[in-house]
Amino acid sequence: MRLLVLGPPGSGKGTQAAILSDKLGVPHISTGEMFRKTIRNGSELGLMAQQFIHRGELVPDDVTIALVRERLSQEDCRAGYLLDGFPRTVEQGRAFDNMLKHLGQAIDRVIYLDVPIARLIKRLTARRVCGVCGSVYHMENKKPKTEGICDQCGGPVEQRDDDSEETVLNRLDVYNQMTKPLAGFYQKKDLLCSVSGDLSIEETTRIIFQSCLRRDN
Ligand code: ADP
Ligand code: ZN
Repeated sequence: MRLLVLGPPGSGKGTQAAILSDKLGVPHISTGEMFRKTIRNGSELGLMAQQFIHRGELVPDDVTIALVRERLSQEDCRAGYLLDGFPRTVEQGRAFDNMLKHLGQAIDRVIYLDVPIARLIKRLTARRVCGVCGSVYHMENKKPKTEGICDQCGGPVEQRDDDSEETVLNRLDVYNQMTKPLAGFYQKKDLLCSVSGDLSIEETTRIIFQSCLRRDN
């Protein structure tokens, strides 16, 4: 099974991708997570990526494409994978098509999580994440039991550098200009399955299974 999860920042892509990858038994590949890891490691790639991510811009296509190409060539991706955050531009979509052709592979479905913009701003600016295990919290409806401390692992719960209001507005702009056109790109290939991401986490997962992952669709 090879799946893509597409949607604006804050649509719950990462959350759903983690749940689906667990239930389907395929690796969850998040380019955002991969970049954050390179930043934590202080590598050259990380220093470069940080400049873009901090401003809410996209990391350049050539860098991102090379990173994904390398990751998909690893052994654990043979039987399938779930991509979260890639492709994010039509250019990346085309490069990904070429990678697939080269490997003799095809994508099974593109899950598109649709959430109204006003909702996204709220979700993103109220979002907090654990710096150690990545668990996600929300200052209104999912606070950690002890302020600033992760329920799961005791790590520090912080705001992501790119979740400040100013950067969030830029990310949404960039999304509309650069990433949204990919919905049409995959619609034309008859791969797009659009689902409302404006429901509870569990309900969204249920609907994804029901409308996007049944054998007969
Ligand atoms: P979100 O979807 O909430 O914006 P991600 O964790 O997917 O968060 O991505 C965070 C940031 O990492 C993006 O704003 C962007 O700067 C960078 N990034 C992630 N994936 C890509 C990609 N495919 N191409 C370019 N930049 C990317
Ligand atoms: Zn944690």
